[in-house]
Amino acid sequence: MNTASNIINALCFIMYIAASIFFILGIKKLGKANTARKGNLLSGVGMGIAVIAVFINNIIYVIYADGVGHKIALFFMIFGIPLFAIIAGSIVGFLWSKKVEMTGMPELVALFNGFGGLASLLVALSQFCAGKALTNDAFSAITLGLTIAIGAVAFTGSIIAWGKLSGKKAFKKNVPVPNFVNGILCGVGLIGIIFYAFGYSSKTGTGANALGVIGIILTVVVFIVLGVTLVIKIGGGDMPVIISFLNALSGLAAAFAGFPIQNTVLIVSGCLVGASGLILTLIMCKAMNRKFFDLLFKSFGAKKSTAAAGEQKEPKAMSIEDAFLILEAAKNVVIIPGYGMAVAQAQHAVKELCDVLEENGAEVNFAIHPVAGRMPGHMNVLLAEANVPYEQLKTSDDINPQMSNVDVAIVIGANDVVNPAAINDESSPLYGMPIVNAYEARTVFVLKRGKGTGFSGIENPLFTNENTVMIYGDAKQTVSQLVVEFEN
Ligand code: NDP
Repeated sequence: MNTASNIINALCFIMYIAASIFFILGIKKLGKANTARKGNLLSGVGMGIAVIAVFINNIIYVIYADGVGHKIALFFMIFGIPLFAIIAGSIVGFLWSKKVEMTGMPELVALFNGFGGLASLLVALSQFCAGKALTNDAFSAITLGLTIAIGAVAFTGSIIAWGKLSGKKAFKKNVPVPNFVNGILCGVGLIGIIFYAFGYSSKTGTGANALGVIGIILTVVVFIVLGVTLVIKIGGGDMPVIISFLNALSGLAAAFAGFPIQNTVLIVSGCLVGASGLILTLIMCKAMNRKFFDLLFKSFGAKKSTAAAGEQKEPKAMSIEDAFLILEAAKNVVIIPGYGMAVAQAQHAVKELCDVLEENGAEVNFAIHPVAGRMPGHMNVLLAEANVPYEQLKTSDDINPQMSNVDVAIVIGANDVVNPAAINDESSPLYGMPIVNAYEARTVFVLKRGKGTGFSGIENPLFTNENTVMIYGDAKQTVSQLVVEFEN
């Protein structure tokens, strides 16, 4: 038994290291749009190796179990149930991901974060119910408590984020939950973890005593509620940041779950997700000019805009034919894509427009705002799919200093990320968020279907500027018609 288990342990150890290397390489490659596909694949291979290693690790119990009946029962428990769960989960995940439109991807990612948190929460609860891995060990008890706490917040927080992203009526309103309520919830939840840890350290037999049970119930319930109250007040420009934060939390929950079940690869992969999620959160905070503290403790849109409610100017509309004449004469064009481009699936038509403009002698660049669309990198993914060269994608910081020399800025389905209220209206909830300074271009074309506001629900004064014209209609159709004008 010893030799066989030593060999199996060594093999699993090597497989865990291999899986960790694949995860690290995968994350590195995910950092660039042109290598992201490979990064995804490498991470998937790493996960496959990790899953096989877990099965191999457990095979020893089946091999050395006494009696055929016992062997079959153990085999069913160790392989049958997890395999069933893996197959069922894979089928659901595969069909769901295949079915989902590109515009629904952010909601799907939010749900995946939530399920990650839920999985860690359930692993921790199962450990608690089995009374395992907690032999008077305060460290295990506390990591298990933290797994439950963080997993619960990630789960319900992500469900709320999913509702907000999918524009569900019930989730649309940002409910300004006072900070003291969240503070109390957090305090009560931590007391729950302490009760539970004490309950275990003073336990008898294999189960927890009454204090431990009260503690675990308190922890689960309070942190489930805290996930809701923390995220329900967040909206508009803060959503992208909170989504990356929830992603980080789901990783941290997995890392903590690795301690009580003593699974090294879960700790490593959880730490990688947690750390990269936290880095992304900080990058997004910087991009949005928001402090992380303000994000969690100040409700988005708490300020009401006091901008002049006087005479409402009407935006000027322009026909495709007239817009073509202006574009034909343009030497320097900047395309600013937003969520509407994703809705219209206009990326291929946009690439065609870019090509005909270049053939006509114009220099064309794309200005990509960090939160354009509904998920980090949303525009980069769509434009990469349409083979727009990576070098043509510029950040707002790169493009803004040149904007006053741009002949035409074409805003395609973007709204919040070009809203000048973020710069010049201190009372606007968007105030302070960096934008793409489209308003500085000589002429601004705004391609949208009608008078719809952006995700934040805030009016955009860009549309009524003297140098702005609206080209109403579905972005794909409008862009395709412009291409046809060039080709005629
Ligand atoms: P916005 O959501 O501000 O605006 C999108 C605009 O596209 C709308 O005004 C809409 O106007 C127009 N539109 C919709 N469908 C079409 C279509 N078929 N054809 C043409 N136009 C269309 O998008 P932005 O990209 O400017 O800003 C992103 C917003 O989303 C920010 O507030 C950001 O904070 C938030 N967010 C971003 C996340 C991220 O990670 N990137 C995550 C969560 C939220 P109309 O209806 O009149 O056509």
